[in-house]
Amino acid sequence: MNYNKKTVKDIDVKGKKVLLRCDFNVPMAKDGSGVITDDKRIRAALPTIQYLLEQGAAVIACSHMGKPVATFDSYKKKQLEKGKDEASITEEKWKKSLQELRMEPVAARLGELLGKDVILADDVVGPDATAKAAALQPGQILLLQNTRFEKGETKNDPELAKKMAAMAEVYVSDAFGAVHRAHASTAGVADYLPAVSGFLIQKELDFIGGALANPKRPLVAILGGSKVSSKIGVINNLLEIADTIIIGGGMAYTFSAAQGGSVGDSLLEEDWKDYANDMVKKAADKGVKLLLPVDTVTADKFAPDADSQVVKAGQIPDGWQGLDIGPETVKLYCDAVADAGTVIWNGPMGVFEFEKFAAGTKAVAEALSKTDAITIIGGGDSAAAVQQLGYADKMTHISTGGGASLEFMEGKELPGVACLLDA
Ligand code: ADP
Ligand code: MG
Repeated sequence: MNYNKKTVKDIDVKGKKVLLRCDFNVPMAKDGSGVITDDKRIRAALPTIQYLLEQGAAVIACSHMGKPVATFDSYKKKQLEKGKDEASITEEKWKKSLQELRMEPVAARLGELLGKDVILADDVVGPDATAKAAALQPGQILLLQNTRFEKGETKNDPELAKKMAAMAEVYVSDAFGAVHRAHASTAGVADYLPAVSGFLIQKELDFIGGALANPKRPLVAILGGSKVSSKIGVINNLLEIADTIIIGGGMAYTFSAAQGGSVGDSLLEEDWKDYANDMVKKAADKGVKLLLPVDTVTADKFAPDADSQVVKAGQIPDGWQGLDIGPETVKLYCDAVADAGTVIWNGPMGVFEFEKFAAGTKAVAEALSKTDAITIIGGGDSAAAVQQLGYADKMTHISTGGGASLEFMEGKELPGVACLLDA
């Protein structure tokens, strides 16, 4: 995939209507009160929005929010699949579920942050949106309703894409968190408008794309998290690129078991043992250094207050489970990143959500904060871990897209990036 894409700086937007795809899929309070619990994604979109407004563009912003079900019939079907009984599934409940995913709270918060009015449309491509888009003046911003209120959105329906495109003259994508999806608003519209990236996507392409395509070496990949099976693509791709691969987290136990170790009650994917052995062999064949834990912090149960003891890797007693890498492993891994040119990290080293088992993840974060290497964090939980442990501002780049950054690291083509004009 070509990561070198045109950006808002490469295109004249003065006096033009710009359709801007943002990622405003913010977490909301569970009680349906419309309170945004974390506005990070809205704040992250500000530089591109402000730039466009300053350049004299009329900005038509849009985003999806949650997973609304566009028709009552499909809502009913989904509820039945979830095991709800038919009598309890009403149109009111469906409408309420939609109500909670409207963009009003986002418009309000965005307006506060920008210090200017955000005009809100009642629909996505309906009469209200088209009228408001037509009347929009340079320097003004309009926010469309939740793009997923249109059932053509997730199907990448060309008719919907055409209608969205018809409101504007330029398409800017800044929704990195959604670029791995080929939807009407993330990819389809680019068939009908000149399409460029905003600053957020540009940064992701520069850092992750740069690290994958042309890394400063040695490139060390740290891979952890819960399961081998969810990281196959990432491991396969990084095995082709990296000089060193470090394995931690829950997936390490599948490697350990594959080599004949005892892993007690640790996370284990029996079906992936052969794969793990293949990886070890492939790494050896390619001359890639593959590091596995040499010790592990085990717990007598999966709980924050579990009793713990450090044991050698592959020697976990029955009834115990590995929840973090051990101190010897921490030393080994921190040494391995000290002289790196680039470090790509995806997947916590242990169950960092429990303070008692966060030490391994914390030590690795600390080591990254001290290297001169370019440090790149991908994956939703990994980004959360680095933030929670207080190292966020010490990293070169923390990806804003969970799923998107994983697919990026897998070397997959991202439809929302591929559709943008090449630089
Ligand atoms: P990311 O979202 O960054 O890609 P993952 O979703 O793959 O990361 O993994 C994150 C989860 O892995 C965390 O919730 C963490 O608790 C869990 N995890 C890490 N190590 C272990 C372990 N030894 N046992 C069970 N879960 C683990
Ligand atoms: Mg995750």
